[in-house]
Amino acid sequence: MNQSYDAIIIGAGIIGAATSLALGRKGWRVLNIDKLPACGYGSTSGSCAIIRPYYSTIDGSAMAYESHFYWKNWADYLGDASASETMLDESGLIKYVNCGSMVMKTELNENLKPCLDMMDELDCPYDEFSPEQLREKLPVWNTESYYPVKLPDDPAFGIANETPLGGAILFRAGGYITDPQLATHNIMRAAERVGGTFIYNRSVVGIRQGNGRVCGVTLDNGDTIATPVVLNAAGPHSSKINQLADVEKNMKVKTRALRQEVAHVPLPEGYNPDTACVTSDSDIGVYTRPEHGNNLLIGSEDPPVDQHEWVDPDDYNREFTEQWRTQVLRVCQRVPALEVPNKIQGVVDLYDVSDDWIPIYDKSDLAGFYMAIGTSGNQFKNAPIAGEMMANIIEACEQGNDQDSNPIDLYLKYIDRTVSSGFYSRLREVNQDSSFSVLG
Ligand SMILES: Cc1cc2nc3c(=O)[nH]c(=O)nc-3n(C[C@H](O)[C@H](O)[C@H](O)COP(=O)(O)OP(=O)(O)OC[C@H]3O[C@@H](n4cnc5c(N)ncnc54)[C@H](O)[C@@H]3O)c2cc1C
Repeated sequence: MNQSYDAIIIGAGIIGAATSLALGRKGWRVLNIDKLPACGYGSTSGSCAIIRPYYSTIDGSAMAYESHFYWKNWADYLGDASASETMLDESGLIKYVNCGSMVMKTELNENLKPCLDMMDELDCPYDEFSPEQLREKLPVWNTESYYPVKLPDDPAFGIANETPLGGAILFRAGGYITDPQLATHNIMRAAERVGGTFIYNRSVVGIRQGNGRVCGVTLDNGDTIATPVVLNAAGPHSSKINQLADVEKNMKVKTRALRQEVAHVPLPEGYNPDTACVTSDSDIGVYTRPEHGNNLLIGSEDPPVDQHEWVDPDDYNREFTEQWRTQVLRVCQRVPALEVPNKIQGVVDLYDVSDDWIPIYDKSDLAGFYMAIGTSGNQFKNAPIAGEMMANIIEACEQGNDQDSNPIDLYLKYIDRTVSSGFYSRLREVNQDSSFSVLG
């Protein structure tokens, strides 16, 4: 292959595709390379694709609240709000089920007081639910408290505390996307319309350098492709790609792959998927949402009692373990009508976790080499804005800006607020305000 490109993006997950679209809109000729057979087949395809506006920091929350509007105005983001679905993508467009996200008030989240202060600052709407109102909205839920989160073999597991939950908050700017892989495909088609190229079944095995900067990549078939700009958007393989480029040593925040299990179980009797919403429940350490096929999806909020399973992304256990059952049993505390099925279904996949569970959207110490990594199980929702932020960082740096001393700002048009990309620097101190969990 002897073409050259203005930029090469390693990875065609949702982050790589969104950056391709944003650079393409600036007139760049971009090539995405993915070792899998199609876009969004990596960790994006395993995503629970939950949309919610609250994070543990104001910058994280601002980006997430802004993202809600991108999902709501999806065709507009893809380039033409008046075009038919099939004109934008022959496979159709994703649906944003804007059912809201119900977060239990718990000891761990200080009854959501700090979170609501941030929501007020952002003018982000929410509704208070008393325990009675919560039981009305989710009739199969009980409002007992079981905190701290335990393993099922703990004798105290399932025994309610004296004081029940204080209620919950429903964040209206939330819900979920029906198909995260299709979302990536939608973006990929939009990126192609502005000149982007995607190739699959090819691994990047080398980052080529000359005169102190990036000058191309080498593929697993020996081909080389010239480019002055390379973006690492390799998801759980991000650390391996950074090592290929030899850019990790001065980074204060690094990334590694974390194994995760998500359970899909038949809906309990009485659960109405049409009126239900996403739930986030740090009292029992799990989140849920309705899933295709009349199932309930159950993910983990990474409570301290569970061991983190850091893995090599090329060599990890893809089978379900006892963790699957643990997550289901935790929901059985809250929803006694839920039955543990014999058939195990769900997802085993990887997060690309940074040291503070906040992503890195930044340049590197190698001129021309950039990174959009460390998405820590929580950046699917933010991908369109992450793509725009990365494109602006790359453009400014290539025009001579020093991102480290003068990080670019990004204007969030829907919520009329500006955020600094410096928040996502690889050189930041580990952010102690983070939840150090998938909640970000
Ligand atoms: C189980 C699970 C649940 C999640 N739930 C949510 C959620 O509810 N809400 C939310 O906002 N986020 C969620 N996330 C996180 C979100 O899905 C990720 O942050 C996002 O999908 C990451 O996208 P990505 O493009 O960075 O990575 P990926 O989708 O993994 O894409 C990276 C791509 O790079 C390719 N690649 C790697 N190395 C090479 C190489 N050497 N050469 C060529 N290609 C290469 C891979 O094949 C892959 O396709 C979840 C993640 C998981 C795993």
